Amino acid sequence: MTDQLISPEAFFGYRLGGDRKIARWDRIVAYFNLLSKESDRIKVIDMGPSTEGASFLLVVISSPENLSRLEEIREANLRLSDPRGLSDEEAEEHIAHGVAVVCQSMSLHASEIAPTQMAPELAYDLVSGEDEDTCRILDNVVFLMVPCFNPDGQIMVADWYDRWIGTEYEGSPLPWLYHRYGGHDNNRDAFQTNMVESRYVASILFRDWMPQAYVDHHQMGSFGARFYIPPYTEPMRPHADPLVYWEHMWYGGHMATLLEQNGKAGVIAGGSTFPAWGHMGWHRITNHHNICGMLTETASAKLATPIHIQVDQLKGNHFSFPEYVAQTNFPHPWEGGWWRLREMVEQIKISA
Ligand SMILES: [Zn+2]
Repeated sequence: MTDQLISPEAFFGYRLGGDRKIARWDRIVAYFNLLSKESDRIKVIDMGPSTEGASFLLVVISSPENLSRLEEIREANLRLSDPRGLSDEEAEEHIAHGVAVVCQSMSLHASEIAPTQMAPELAYDLVSGEDEDTCRILDNVVFLMVPCFNPDGQIMVADWYDRWIGTEYEGSPLPWLYHRYGGHDNNRDAFQTNMVESRYVASILFRDWMPQAYVDHHQMGSFGARFYIPPYTEPMRPHADPLVYWEHMWYGGHMATLLEQNGKAGVIAGGSTFPAWGHMGWHRITNHHNICGMLTETASAKLATPIHIQVDQLKGNHFSFPEYVAQTNFPHPWEGGWWRLREMVEQIKISA
């Protein structure tokens, strides 16, 4: 069956993340729908329309066996997430037959294009892979992917980029808000869920699934570290379970090891501009729901247009990364050069 799967490269006509190319959300939706017809490892759920009427997708990826008993896995996970009235024996039974649930969302901030451009390739790798690692992940995890948190903004940014490509304005930022009501503050809507997109994600995270871990993939500025991964930096916000903070280190340590193994330089864990303080933001509020809530932040280019960075342009920050030199949570500085969308896609995919 996997022989028939169409790769993203074949479907889109180029490798995603290529220079000066942004795949538009409607094409990405078409690709996910195609994959779901061809593979029994993926289910695509249309949560409903976005604010301006685009499809808002939840993509569920796991082994065919797990997907065939998805409702049972979901109910057992929910039962464990609120164990009031549950006996120890019942809990052990659910754990023995349970599957870890992990949610990851992409490009909440629509000018941060790389995570959504990465999403079809990650899905393809998971539904087509026959290697031991992929099979183990599929057997042990129900992966809930929100491939685009803000479809309206994705369409605005893709169209804006295409409109000015080849002119002196190529790669310039969108001059208006990329969400009709929330703009960039769609991430501060996590605690009040005024926008329909927030309601879809809140229903996935806090009502229907209660995953063990959640990662929100973003982008940051161009002239610091190449990639920020968990844990957060100081200050912390109290009242989440301490275990959640240790889990940040656990996931972050694994991401860092895999990134280094794959030759990625410039990775920083903590020590960046992302403190654990704050109840706003999906990646933080999840910690207070007993979900290990995390963030990644990739250095940006000019949308899909590569930029060249000299080593002396690279800077630390006023958190705990005062100078752009190696330190314990940044052991392998990137030394400058061309920075392009494909690099961002690859490091996000490794971390995911
Ligand atoms: Zn962001």
